[in-house]
Amino acid sequence: MNSSLIPEVLDNKRVSYECTCGSHETIHRIYFCRHCHQLRCRQCVSHEVDSQYCQHCLEYIPSIDAKLKKNKCASCFQCPSCMHTLTTRAIITQVPNPTDPTQTQHKKVFYLICYYCRWSSRDIGIPDQSVASGNWPELETPNCKRLDQLFDRYRLLAQKEKLDKEKKRISPRSAIILLDKYGITPSLSPKVTATLRAKMAKSSSGFSLSELKSPTDMSDFESSVATDDVEPLDINAYYNNSLEIDLGEKATLNQQLMQVESQPDKCSQLYPVSQMLLVKHSLRCKQCDHNLSKPEYNPSSIKFKIQLSAYYHIPELRIKSIPLMKKGEEFKLEMTLQNPTPYTLHVNIFDLVDTSIEPSAGIKVAETEMVLAPKDDTADLDIDQNYHSQFNDDKNFISFRKGNKLGFYINVCPLKSGECKFRLGMKHDFINTVIQTSKESSVERQPQILWITHQIWINLGDVQD
Ligand SMILES: [Zn+2]
Ligand SMILES: [Zn+2]
Ligand SMILES: [Zn+2]
Ligand SMILES: [Zn+2]
Repeated sequence: MNSSLIPEVLDNKRVSYECTCGSHETIHRIYFCRHCHQLRCRQCVSHEVDSQYCQHCLEYIPSIDAKLKKNKCASCFQCPSCMHTLTTRAIITQVPNPTDPTQTQHKKVFYLICYYCRWSSRDIGIPDQSVASGNWPELETPNCKRLDQLFDRYRLLAQKEKLDKEKKRISPRSAIILLDKYGITPSLSPKVTATLRAKMAKSSSGFSLSELKSPTDMSDFESSVATDDVEPLDINAYYNNSLEIDLGEKATLNQQLMQVESQPDKCSQLYPVSQMLLVKHSLRCKQCDHNLSKPEYNPSSIKFKIQLSAYYHIPELRIKSIPLMKKGEEFKLEMTLQNPTPYTLHVNIFDLVDTSIEPSAGIKVAETEMVLAPKDDTADLDIDQNYHSQFNDDKNFISFRKGNKLGFYINVCPLKSGECKFRLGMKHDFINTVIQTSKESSVERQPQILWITHQIWINLGDVQD
């Protein structure tokens, strides 16, 4: 999840949950492993690429093809001027008739245009194409040869390193000598000797070290040498206006960096940029290797096969409103709890006393178990008059109740000026619906009820003196 995509109202940094690794994250950025029953932040999960696709044409591209196409879509382009997606436009033009040069004929041709800034492929002289899918000429990357050379050299070096590593391991020949030395004859261990001999034969018939060029005698490879012959920049020429600059002609830094291989200085050299592919990735718990998030393969689907974001499994604690805080003055802080699961949850909130640091606030929490109604999407339609009486709530502690949400009070007394920060404990039951595979009988396939405790950090902001 990108930080810029979550608005402040949803991603409130004032309440953060402590991950098992000790980092603090908001509930939207944390996962809950239902196999280890622990919270996992993005550092505690392994990230894997599932599939590649183009965000514009929504085409699924297999990994091997994506690598060959340098992670670019073959048919979609971005405007080099404003970064919008380019559209293919068809027009009818007059071209000379090949059979009779004195006559003209109609021909449909295509070119790329940006409907946002009106940049078009005709601006830089790319010839119109006769097919809609393009076959747009590719701009040759400067230093392409040099890059290929470097790739080859590093591939060779990697191969050599791998072989060196294998050589260091005990060779089958020396293993046979060792066996002989300690009197273990082939008659005593016929199986071991046979395997070793087979390995020896394999290594002699296969790839040999002598075939590989050593990196020192790759004479055809030129190392690059840094040169000092870069023209110094004459700043005075810019200041004294002796050098005329037309800003309309100059490419901006963003435009230049979009074409990192050529970095054109002028707008007339801007070239359509191939759309980069996006990936769908899955997350796996590092402890138990189970998937915590797995998207559907179909690029146009936004659904998940597995989604264990903590937001869907752990009660969400929020601050309803923060009153004006004064040092030494106790106040009632109203907080809310929301149940994201389709089961009734029992939640206990308690004070976690941390003796290692001087507390910035004293808190008092009533030790009452709160019963959170299950999440029900049809609840708004079904108005139950007896709803409140079901729970028998203490009005001094529970402020309101609405569907799967309730409000409650805690007493806070800021002890010093500066940030008012404290820690709460939250204990709740969790109904694990993952079917426990049991070999003995199918009777044990019951949802498992567990009690889980989390540490939650609350930051109320600055206190007035
Ligand atoms: Zn973590
Ligand atoms: Zn595409
Ligand atoms: Zn544009
Ligand atoms: Zn796990």
